[in-house]
Amino acid sequence: MSPSSGTQGKRALELSAGRCPADASEVADLYVLGRLTEAQAEVFEEHFLQCPECAEKAELAYEFVAALKKYQR
Ligand SMILES: [Zn+2]
Repeated sequence: MSPSSGTQGKRALELSAGRCPADASEVADLYVLGRLTEAQAEVFEEHFLQCPECAEKAELAYEFVAALKKYQR
């Protein structure tokens, strides 16, 4: 991998397409909220497309955020 990419992140979220993030729920939340860097979001997308567990977490996070937005309107 390239060590020079992703240095713009506020926190060092170690994401790898080949394995689950240490805190998949948090990463899923950040992903749905658009708080990941573009590079991190890409890696997470690539990961959950082949990981049913993380895909489910991303879906749950998405539904949660969608529900929140509904309440705010
Ligand atoms: Zn995963």
